[in-house]
Amino acid sequence: MTKLRLAIVGAGPAGIYAADILLKEQRPFDVSIDLFEHLPAPYGLVRYGVAPDHPRIKGVITALREVLDRGDIRIFGNVRYGVDITLDDLKKHYNAVIFATGAIRDADLDIPGIDAQGSYGAADFVSWFDGHPDVPRTWPLEAASVAVVGVGNVALDVSRILAKHAIDLLPTEVPGNVYEILEASPVTDVHVFGRRGPAQVKFTPLELRELGELRDVDMVVYDEDFDYDEASLAAIASNKQVKVIDRVLQEWRTRPAANGAAGPASRRLHLHFWAKPVEVTTDAAGRVASLVYERTRPDGQGGVVGTGELREVPIGQLYRAVGYFGSPLPGVPFDDRHGVIPNHEGQVLEPDSNEIVPGVYATGWIKRGPVGLIGHTKSDAMETVRHLVGDQASWWQPEDPSDEAIPALLAERGVRWTDLEGWHRLDEHEIALGAPHERARIKVVPRDEMISISRGE
Ligand SMILES: Cc1cc2nc3c(=O)[nH]c(=O)nc-3n(C[C@H](O)[C@H](O)[C@H](O)COP(=O)(O)OP(=O)(O)OC[C@H]3O[C@@H](n4cnc5c(N)ncnc54)[C@H](O)[C@@H]3O)c2cc1C
Repeated sequence: MTKLRLAIVGAGPAGIYAADILLKEQRPFDVSIDLFEHLPAPYGLVRYGVAPDHPRIKGVITALREVLDRGDIRIFGNVRYGVDITLDDLKKHYNAVIFATGAIRDADLDIPGIDAQGSYGAADFVSWFDGHPDVPRTWPLEAASVAVVGVGNVALDVSRILAKHAIDLLPTEVPGNVYEILEASPVTDVHVFGRRGPAQVKFTPLELRELGELRDVDMVVYDEDFDYDEASLAAIASNKQVKVIDRVLQEWRTRPAANGAAGPASRRLHLHFWAKPVEVTTDAAGRVASLVYERTRPDGQGGVVGTGELREVPIGQLYRAVGYFGSPLPGVPFDDRHGVIPNHEGQVLEPDSNEIVPGVYATGWIKRGPVGLIGHTKSDAMETVRHLVGDQASWWQPEDPSDEAIPALLAERGVRWTDLEGWHRLDEHEIALGAPHERARIKVVPRDEMISISRGE
């Protein structure tokens, strides 16, 4: 019987689901899978993106772990495609590769002043509060008034973590130094800005409603934002999700802090709709001083147009949460405009000719762009795997498909890779660190320490 030796790059949900689906698929050939992951821990953005105070979502890790624990997938952690291993290496040892490398950096927001000191990308802040090993360990939380630009769930995560009292994060897996810095934050007001109206936001109702339940945080919405046009009314009437969002916001309009009145809480989270950021102004030292925005109004078709009315909110920091963006991978076609690998249903395409690149596949956020929930990466993986299985005639013919070849190659290159057993060791270590403090776990953050614990060094 033929055998498919498959490399998957990226051990986030997309990569793990692809492995799981392929192993369960009815197919006329054997399969062996090696999963390469840049970090010494698997699970991608479920571990390093989903907020620490969302333990239910982090719980997806249990299902992903079950897939890895079945024992039919080899993991090579702390191995970076493009640095430790190349496309030529993969061609030499495998029949095909699936790239599932996700997205970790921020999309740009092109307005004057966006690069000022004190202006950050949400993705960097998320990586910091989730203990990603490759970002600086400190964060200068020095501002009382902060702006967050964007109306998706990442904007809500960032606003919530900024506004929430750190003590309420303590039972979670938030890293110790993150807790200390959040604890000392002088923040009193977090302002969220969205170009469009309440009926066009991308938040999900559950995440929005959660903001209204934060202890000692007043939700502040403004009556002027609720003068709905026909398109908004139609969206509320026809879409259950939009209807629930509207209901949540309408309830906040009746709270004491509505319209910026004095409320009972020591912190406030303001939602500004119809507000298009146009400039970040700075002080003499080049630090963020204010956000200038233009009021917009509905264009009658669900979009917006500027009204020409400019307003200014004094702020000391700004976070742009306008989307994530994929990164190019050496030797693999890349679409610079959308930050994805060009593909047709997961079959990677040459950018100019649109011809299929044999043996090379993509799945998850790097295939589809950085939108959608963890569950969507499963259907993504199904589509990609279906093509991989059907493309048997065009798989690569590797020179050395032996199991020993990759460990030998990595050893020769001095790569300190980690394996599944090593991940279990690190996992148990983190859980044990948390236990005396009744915390789910305490994450080990420095990469070197993660590697040493995993490798039992
Ligand atoms: C802040 C935030 C909060 C979110 N909250 C939720 C939520 O509450 N609920 C929900 O359902 N979804 C949520 N999501 C979405 C969810 O995280 C994504 O849908 C999902 O993680 C995408 O999976 P992926 O495997 O494509 O990418 P990723 O999860 O990004 O995984 C990609 C993996 O590839 C690895 N990698 C990258 N480059 C290389 C390389 N060169 N070599 C080797 N490995 C590499 C990365 O280290 C990473 O482990 C959230 C996303 C973000 C950003």
